[in-house]
Amino acid sequence: MSAFACKDLTVGYGDGAPVIDGLELDMAEGAVVALLGANGAGKTTLLRALAGLEPARSGAVFLGGRDLTNLSTEDRVRSGLSLVPEGRSVVVELTVDENLRLGGLWRHRARARKAAVEEMYELFPPLDRRRDAAGHTLSGGERQMLALARALMARPEVLLLDEPSLGLAPQATAQLLGVLRATAARTGLTVLLAEQNVTGALSVAQRGVVLSLGAIVADRPAAELAADPALRHAYLGF
Ligand code: ATP
Repeated sequence: MSAFACKDLTVGYGDGAPVIDGLELDMAEGAVVALLGANGAGKTTLLRALAGLEPARSGAVFLGGRDLTNLSTEDRVRSGLSLVPEGRSVVVELTVDENLRLGGLWRHRARARKAAVEEMYELFPPLDRRRDAAGHTLSGGERQMLALARALMARPEVLLLDEPSLGLAPQATAQLLGVLRATAARTGLTVLLAEQNVTGALSVAQRGVVLSLGAIVADRPAAELAADPALRHAYLGF
């Protein structure tokens, strides 16, 4: 059974033409899939619709065979689906430790929450060194790591990640994507990773899908996509 799927999903803004148009996606449990597409292709819109933040005009979203289509964002999170939005959203007034505990507030009782926070420090050593640092003092890379770790505190089965490398230096990007790959391999997490950084995303994912004109126009093993300059040129703008 697929871990995560959407069927015939259509999403648009106001009376405008659909941004996502009858989209089909199927992800196996533990798969890391890169979601690629030129600027404005609709990657953010798709992730937001999957998370329940943008209403779908039609179609359905399934997690582990369960139909999430009519659930609120909060209930989708409770069901195991989490979104890390673009923009390294952490609470800047709180410390690293407080941000992590906040992420696990409803999922864990106090003692289990402490253990889960320690687990995050193991996964993200740079955060361990910054436990007591306030959010606003973190570097871009550290902030993005914290946003990712905080989402993992909710113990999602499926994680939707919107452009985690945006604005990060190459070294910070490599570190973040490395941690993501290790986490997915270790925990069996299923990941849909939207990225403009095609090379980085394809180095982490096993599979890449390319979004164009509201639909998936290529769905191939990551290594194959990475080696296809014609496809890059046609759909990714370089
Ligand atoms: P980027 O990589 O630039 O973030 P994207 O692939 O994530 O692009 P979206 O942000 O989903 O693309 O945008 C897809 C289309 O939907 C664009 O044409 C955009 O102008 C439009 N759009 C996005 N958000 C809104 C909104 N709130 N209201 C109206 N149109 C929107």
